[in-house]
Amino acid sequence: MNRPEPSRTLPDRSIYERRESKVRSYCRAMPRQFVKALGPWMYDDQGGRYLDFLSGCATLNYGHNHPVLKQALIEYIQSDGITHGLDLHTRPKAELLRTFEELILEPRGLDYVVMFPGPTGTNAVEAALKLARKVTGRDLVISFTNGFHGMTLGSLACTGNSAKRRGAGVPLDHVEHEAYDGYYGPDIDTAELLERRLSDGSSGLDAPAAILVETVQGEGGLNAASATWLRKIADLAKRHGALLIVDDIQSGCGRTGTFFSFEEAGIVPDIVTMAKSLSGLGLPLAVTLIRRELDVWKPGEHNGTFRGNNHAFVTATAALRHFWSDAEFASEIARRGEYLAERLERMAEAHGLETRGRGMMRGIVMPSGEFAAKVTSACFARGLIIETSGADDEVVKVLAPLNIDDEIFAHGLDIIEECVGQVMQERATSPMEVFK
Ligand SMILES: *Cc1c(COP(=O)(O)O)cnc(C)c1O
Repeated sequence: MNRPEPSRTLPDRSIYERRESKVRSYCRAMPRQFVKALGPWMYDDQGGRYLDFLSGCATLNYGHNHPVLKQALIEYIQSDGITHGLDLHTRPKAELLRTFEELILEPRGLDYVVMFPGPTGTNAVEAALKLARKVTGRDLVISFTNGFHGMTLGSLACTGNSAKRRGAGVPLDHVEHEAYDGYYGPDIDTAELLERRLSDGSSGLDAPAAILVETVQGEGGLNAASATWLRKIADLAKRHGALLIVDDIQSGCGRTGTFFSFEEAGIVPDIVTMAKSLSGLGLPLAVTLIRRELDVWKPGEHNGTFRGNNHAFVTATAALRHFWSDAEFASEIARRGEYLAERLERMAEAHGLETRGRGMMRGIVMPSGEFAAKVTSACFARGLIIETSGADDEVVKVLAPLNIDDEIFAHGLDIIEECVGQVMQERATSPMEVFK
């Protein structure tokens, strides 16, 4: 891949050091200035080209600047279409609702109403939590170990990661974290443990308003719940009068192979949250899907200034029409997901490692976060953008575009294979390892 020559003087980037908050994160591991992106590629201002296996944390499932989506938006802007519309009726909103109904909900026999809660994922989660508490009159929410649901207080309370939780500065309460599928190893059924606690009037666990779950834990290390476990959780939510909320913000929009990540398990959540790849082009757009009977909101009881991102409505509609009109895209994702699984398993086997995930949301578990970081920085040096996930950031996570060309995909996986090999080799020959 084209890389800037080390001798060339780099342009002055001190503005970021001087003026941007220390809270910045991804840019620290990838200290370049990006100027252009198309499909799976990103380009920096030094002529460097990078293959993007981060895809905006699964916000760019269809790659960067997909021509069909981009064209739809350009035409809309050219025609002076509404940009900001609060929650006013606009043609793009009607078209999105109609398309979503026709291509997504009706073929799957789902009868959700669509709430536009504000543009980000955490907005969708906050709305879901608020609604579940309002519907049930209960305050406790059950979420799971290693779950990630966003950074505002309600969502953060449901998030497991202690470093993120510490940022809150106030107690994060009204949430219990129960063990996710596989948390205590393969022999312990954590759905049964939860059932036991919920059925025991003396367990100390109050009756919950909701059970909030990711089918594959995007930030929490790509743990994939089994279909059986998900069905048990859905069933026990129902029996205990709690709403089942599936957070499909990262695992949805085809990432695991089907439009919704829970389709394979055959469950019907009461509430579903979506964001990230929903607009398709990377524009902010989130929805909270609500089973019709549970839509007990009073008008305006929950709102937000940016609920009517019409540009995102336009691109979301174009994405649904382009990719989800028939079953072909899903079968393409399944095929690529299988290939990804094979490639990662081969790497894992070669070095005594493990793989995790489902569909096009998979990764390889390195011995520690330190080794995973070595892999991702070695990848970056070879022109591949890739990030980590997990409690210790120990999982190298592949989030390639779902529509990536087979050869380019193979090329990116070759880079990962090489870098994992190199890092594991160094580890094996490092004298310090003897003492670890
Ligand atoms: C990214 C993410 C969120 C939060 O979305 P934001 O747009 O960052 O607020 C919530 N849940 C899951 C599963 C996510 O991956």
